[in-house]
Amino acid sequence: MRASLVVRGGTVVEAGWSARADVFVAGGVVVALAEPGTPAPSGTVEIDAGGALVMPGGVDPHCHVGFTSGDFTSLDDYARCTTAAVFGGTTTIVDFAIPRPGQRPADVAYAQRAKASQGLCDSALHACVVEWDATVPDQLAALVADGMPTVKMFTTYRGETMANEDTILRTMTVLRDLGGLVVIHCEADHIIGDAQERCAASGRIGAEHMAATRPELAETASVAEVLAIAESLRAPVYFVHQSTAEAVELVAAARRRGVAAFTESVAHHLVLDDGLYGGPVPERFVCCPPLRPRGAVDALARHLFTGEITTIGSDHCCYDVAQKESRRSDVRVMPNGLPGVETRLPVIFSEFVAGRGLPATRFVELTAANPARTNGLYPRKGTLMPGADADIAIWDPSVRWTVTSGDLHMATDYTPYEGMTLTGRPRTVLVGGRVVVHDGMLADAAPRGRHIAAGPVTLTPSLL
Ligand SMILES: [Zn+2]
Repeated sequence: MRASLVVRGGTVVEAGWSARADVFVAGGVVVALAEPGTPAPSGTVEIDAGGALVMPGGVDPHCHVGFTSGDFTSLDDYARCTTAAVFGGTTTIVDFAIPRPGQRPADVAYAQRAKASQGLCDSALHACVVEWDATVPDQLAALVADGMPTVKMFTTYRGETMANEDTILRTMTVLRDLGGLVVIHCEADHIIGDAQERCAASGRIGAEHMAATRPELAETASVAEVLAIAESLRAPVYFVHQSTAEAVELVAAARRRGVAAFTESVAHHLVLDDGLYGGPVPERFVCCPPLRPRGAVDALARHLFTGEITTIGSDHCCYDVAQKESRRSDVRVMPNGLPGVETRLPVIFSEFVAGRGLPATRFVELTAANPARTNGLYPRKGTLMPGADADIAIWDPSVRWTVTSGDLHMATDYTPYEGMTLTGRPRTVLVGGRVVVHDGMLADAAPRGRHIAAGPVTLTPSLL
């Protein structure tokens, strides 16, 4: 068997199955999954997985790198973000190219794409349309042809990134015909604007009141509207960071009617609750949509088990404590978003696989295979089947460790999970067949990241 490296002694975990197997790698890709003990040619590097889980590296479908919003820019770049990603077992990130007012979506996307080479791992990119004009269809055609078929849209952040319903409908129509996909942040801006105004009028607009400023109904209403657009167009649609079971169930019901509609949830909405806004550092938990009450968190998390949640992202947005504190008295102007690219996999594994019996195969499906599928990256990413890139997380499922921001690698000085004791973490992470992280140490800091040109996204309700 031709190979330069083999990972032996582990249990390979794929989205649909797991089995003891050795993983043979050559030229940066998986060339075979073989019976344990299959001989390798002399000179092959052998990595002993020591009984650990051998999983495809995570694919984070929602990651903001060096993102500017309002007066704030998040603090990382491709080198920092991908370093943190790899330490957390994630080997592909999907970033966003979000235009500022007046910028052309395609210009921003091509400029952002050029940064991929600074990364320790590969990346892909979501483009973004805010305003419709006659040039948008040609821009979208170019973007899809150049491997950027997914386009972020927002129904909130008026004056910044909010798109109106006409623009959403037209963009969705064009992308449907091109093999593209609208990925959308749904919160009805008029409902949020009204809630914020009423909160401000009574002096309750600081970070500790975050939950009241963005009600669950705003999300439900906007998801229903966008689903109706997608259904009428017979277009696929992917909802980012759905934070309530009601929103997830609207999407699931549409899927049962034949709409190719999918739910992303993000780690913090599945684990953390709005009680943190009543604590000593509420600003560190300000994100949109906000953290929800414990009952809503648990209802959302149940859909990891029902199958109604398609992917888990991080919605990584790396602000530090000083940025978060600087405008904590007014959530309308403070930076929202939480650092999470490094903690996404360990937190979800610990909470749901180790803690609540979610099958490891379902974990791989939610965090690697399905994000690759919905982004046109499968089967190059999100699987270890022969032909896939040899991006591999060798995962110790039973090690206990305590999260502390000083031990993490994100470009910030806090983590929302500070002090939490977790079970399981990656021990060794390979990117393109190279060991990049081993035993908590960076083994190869050379930036070899590539922009991965995504294929057309042709999704049916069953994802295939
Ligand atoms: Zn986001």
